[in-house]
Amino acid sequence: MAAMARFCPSATLVVATLCPLAMGLAPALMPAVHAQQSPWTVEEASFTGPRSRLAKNWQGLRPLPATIEILVMPGHADSQGFGGGASGAAVAVSGARPMDPAISDELFWNLATVEAVVRLGQSRGLNIRSYDPGVRRIARGDDPRTTWSVGKSHVQAGGYAFEIHYDAHGAVGVGSGLIPPLKGQPSLIDESLAREFGAFPLWFRDGLGAPKRGISILEIGKLEGQLEARLRNPSTRQQSLEAIALRVVNALEQGLGDQRPAAGAGGQIALPPLSPPPDVVGTVLPARDRQASPGAW
Ligand SMILES: [Zn+2]
Repeated sequence: MAAMARFCPSATLVVATLCPLAMGLAPALMPAVHAQQSPWTVEEASFTGPRSRLAKNWQGLRPLPATIEILVMPGHADSQGFGGGASGAAVAVSGARPMDPAISDELFWNLATVEAVVRLGQSRGLNIRSYDPGVRRIARGDDPRTTWSVGKSHVQAGGYAFEIHYDAHGAVGVGSGLIPPLKGQPSLIDESLAREFGAFPLWFRDGLGAPKRGISILEIGKLEGQLEARLRNPSTRQQSLEAIALRVVNALEQGLGDQRPAAGAGGQIALPPLSPPPDVVGTVLPARDRQASPGAW
């Protein structure tokens, strides 16, 4: 989930300047790909856990050029220490060591997922690239180096931008889904990602930093259970990242109206069975369950 702690005091100022309903709706072009089936069986797709059950009170109808430049960015890449992402159930509940002690586990997986999405997307001919500020602590959200600023500029220049996130574990987390942009109209890509992963409502949590800047947020799933175990287990990690990337890239292509058969044989990755991840039980004892800390995801 997106950072909240850093910019809550000024959030209302941004809210007041944006009104997506005031903008004209694009012609009601429905994607021609509605009939396409996901290449994933329920069992294969479900390792990312529950989808958002929140109301989808929007529809992505705005068509995008097939050659549009897609910018994908890791959530919380520059807000470590300012509500820098979910710790995940392994660390917060089971006492596992963080994947990287310098960053949240969510950012660790956001970075890995972005890399997998870009690699697959480029191999499939999408005009897609990533942006990572590299600097992990930038205090001002509007600093020109942040994902928010770079994504905002990208959208203003006519591109599509989204952040990859993993949601909090436990009752605080919602699940997988697409949080639509609040600046401009949701696009056919937003609609396609929502079809694949689920959807969050407009103005979720009164509008998060990225959507207010026209950047969509894709929650892959709650950082717990099968999803987190498959990612943490070195023997299932890469295949799980590639399976997630395949779902994302398929959805991007379908949002652009790509009529090619989705992924072909590549869409049938069989995930290996889980063996106990070796690093779930670590030496760091949880002082408390961090899910109870507002703004920590
Ligand atoms: Zn997040």
